[in-house]
Amino acid sequence: MGVKQRSTTLSSAHHLLASPVFQLEVLNGASEPAPGLAIPPFVVSAGMEIRPRGVEVLQINIGKLCNQSCAHCHVDAGPDRKHEQMTQETMQLCLDFAIRNRITTIDITGGAPEMNVHFRWLVEACREAGIQVINRCNLTIIMSNPRFRDLPEFFARNKVHIISSLPHFSKTRTDHQRGDGVFEDSIAALKLLNQAGYGFGNPDYKLDLVYNPSGAFLPGSQHTLEKEFKAQLIRRFGVSFDHLFTITNLPVSRFLDYLLTSGNYTSYMEELYKAFNPSNLEGLMCRFTLSVGWDGFLYDCDFNQMLNLKSNVAHPHISTADAEELLNRQIVVNQHCYGCTAGAGSSCGGEISA
Ligand code: SF4
Ligand code: SF4
Repeated sequence: MGVKQRSTTLSSAHHLLASPVFQLEVLNGASEPAPGLAIPPFVVSAGMEIRPRGVEVLQINIGKLCNQSCAHCHVDAGPDRKHEQMTQETMQLCLDFAIRNRITTIDITGGAPEMNVHFRWLVEACREAGIQVINRCNLTIIMSNPRFRDLPEFFARNKVHIISSLPHFSKTRTDHQRGDGVFEDSIAALKLLNQAGYGFGNPDYKLDLVYNPSGAFLPGSQHTLEKEFKAQLIRRFGVSFDHLFTITNLPVSRFLDYLLTSGNYTSYMEELYKAFNPSNLEGLMCRFTLSVGWDGFLYDCDFNQMLNLKSNVAHPHISTADAEELLNRQIVVNQHCYGCTAGAGSSCGGEISA
């Protein structure tokens, strides 16, 4: 059976894997239970330093609080992560940086970003500044409480690009990974988004779905899965969406825990290594995206954020961020990066070589 929803976060369970240091020890074969895994360092396989080509997207993780606690979550988000929430002051610093550096897209993620009390302020402030907003919405948040029920209209008013996870078009497979009742609420939320104009090819109301595998294997073809999801969702539920992004599960946080406890860690890492595809190096998302944590620290991507691998600059914080220094930095890579280069590649926008 595949990866199954957790009842608590690693953090609240005081699990060893809640520590980024321990996760990195495991990934580098220095710690039980997976010592000495014989795959070369990622940087050796890459054969080059990974350098940015600019900051086109500022991805802001505004908090780890979430109404769900999905099995594969690399953020270790959940209902008990109440305290890690970005303040309005830090959001303002992000916005100032984006405006100063003509960044055209702010990609808001979490947790469930809508649970941050300053979420709507941030969206409206971005739009007033002419910045496009992506929101990574887990769908069920819309149905979780009446105070979130108007989110589809709010998104439409602000022309927010919605990207939402839906692991499968069947209830069993979705609920297994994301929790009981998630599938039904996701479909109900998708219907509300469709009613608000989302998912019909209008560039102002983009609704994309994310598929990630439900176990220790690479995703199938994005093109094929998109066709299958579109046909099944329209036929079974009358639901439309624009594109499907396939994302590889990276061995970080709760997915790393699943790999270790299920005995799949070694074979999965070997699979990622064997599927290493150098043509994905050019399109790695860390080369054009900068990631900001809830407390304002800077990272090369959301995965590095969860491993506490800060960007390689003197003061990696949004309050002192310097675009030129960031442009000249070397991106921090480690063994989890094999997840981004395997097969067709993986990024927050799906396959790299699609
Ligand atoms: S909805 Fe997203 S952030 Fe929340 S627990 Fe699931 S994967 Fe993590
Ligand atoms: S995990 Fe992050 S740093 Fe590593 S290759 Fe992927 S995007 Fe780049």
